[in-house]
Amino acid sequence: MSQRDGQPILVWSAPYKFELKAFGVNKVFAEDRGEVVLGKLKKELGEIVQHIEPRQATKEELLMVHTPAYVESLDKTETWQEILELKDHEFSRESATRDLKEIYEDVKLQTGGTIKAVEIALKTGLAASLGGGFHHAYAEKGTGFCGVNDVAIAIRSAQAKGLVKKVMIVDLDFHQGDGNASVFQKDADVFTFSVHSEEGWPEEKETSDLDIGILSAEQHLYLDKIKEGLELAMSRFQPELVVYLAGSDPYEKCALPGSHFIKRPLAEMRKRDELVIDFFQSRNIPLAMVFSGGYGRDVWEVHYHAVHYMLEKAGIIKEAAVTA
Ligand SMILES: [Zn+2]
Repeated sequence: MSQRDGQPILVWSAPYKFELKAFGVNKVFAEDRGEVVLGKLKKELGEIVQHIEPRQATKEELLMVHTPAYVESLDKTETWQEILELKDHEFSRESATRDLKEIYEDVKLQTGGTIKAVEIALKTGLAASLGGGFHHAYAEKGTGFCGVNDVAIAIRSAQAKGLVKKVMIVDLDFHQGDGNASVFQKDADVFTFSVHSEEGWPEEKETSDLDIGILSAEQHLYLDKIKEGLELAMSRFQPELVVYLAGSDPYEKCALPGSHFIKRPLAEMRKRDELVIDFFQSRNIPLAMVFSGGYGRDVWEVHYHAVHYMLEKAGIIKEAAVTA
């Protein structure tokens, strides 16, 4: 079997890269992880590693989550300047070869990628889009680098097509999944579970269905708290699908200054992703993974292992005794 049920389970496209320099942006950002991970896997494992190119999310799909006024504002450069929190010295229109608002096109493509990953996961059990996870986007505003809430849109889209009803979001990004908590606040069919740093941005947290805020001083309990949280979440809600936001910003090599409160070693980050995949696989619950946050040149190391592990579990590659 080269791909699960004859279908690749990885979704990616070149514009995922967010080549921010082309937009005149000079800022540490979550770039290139999908390209690096996919490139290394293809080089190492050859043709068995295939991916699907997504289509852009449509306006109708965006409106399943976002307000009409907000969707309209996404056509403006200033809106994206605010979403990316660009200070004057971080943005120069003169050095740009693309207008900043064109980033919207790339974000719509990543949103289409998350929609696709959810649909593949529902068919095959496991899938990943090598980007996405913009969990700070609210219905009516974008914050924290997130303009469009791809995860919420993918869930609503799959529900509207009758593919699934009850969905759990497992969000292990360093930052709380405040946008998702807000969007699904009153929705009994979507359970939001977030494990995040209690300290740091966002200062004002939203209320998820289950929140586990970790203090810097107790970060050695990171994996234990995730395990406990997964059990507790499952005791409260039985999902037909899990969307996993596998943020790599709790990794000790994440370059985002604001994520310094939690610095976990690579081995532990990799165990975390194995734990989540195994937890739901052993219960026969489909899981779609997206990358979410993770900044700087080394965070791909976390995602690489998660995707490799997923390909093993899907039977696409043989379980390796040692992985890079
Ligand atoms: Zn984050």
